[in-house]
Amino acid sequence: MENCIFCKIVRGEIPAKIIYEDDDVIAFNDINPAAPIHFLIIPRIHITSLLDCEKTHQALLGRMLLLAPEIAKEQGCTDGFRTIINTGRVGGQEVFHLHIHIIGGKNRLPGMIHKT
Ligand code: AMP
Ligand code: ZN
Repeated sequence: MENCIFCKIVRGEIPAKIIYEDDDVIAFNDINPAAPIHFLIIPRIHITSLLDCEKTHQALLGRMLLLAPEIAKEQGCTDGFRTIINTGRVGGQEVFHLHIHIIGGKNRLPGMIHKT
């Protein structure tokens, strides 16, 4: 995907603080962190969102999810963290390349969604 910002990070065309990479996946710090630890895990291939995942992506999705606690611990999340996948308009997705947010730090995170 030519103009996808995360594809550009995968191709090394724009800088990012990459904290993990392998053949299928990379992880890098969020440019606008919501907490002291905030990084994103993305597939190297362009998948627009969780809505676009298919059976063929099962192993990749499993890999991304299993990497979350592994990298989180390395980054200093010693007592838990939050994972978020925003999907589509209603989910508030802003970058349309699938990513898992991993957010943590020392203090308990605030509640996620306020009931109305
Ligand atoms: P969302 O699509 O709403 O789940 O979130 C997209 C996330 O990507 C936001 O938290 C942004 O701060 C983050 N982001 C956008 N551009 C970059 C970038 N160039 N490097 C790192 N993080 C980014
Ligand atoms: Zn992309």
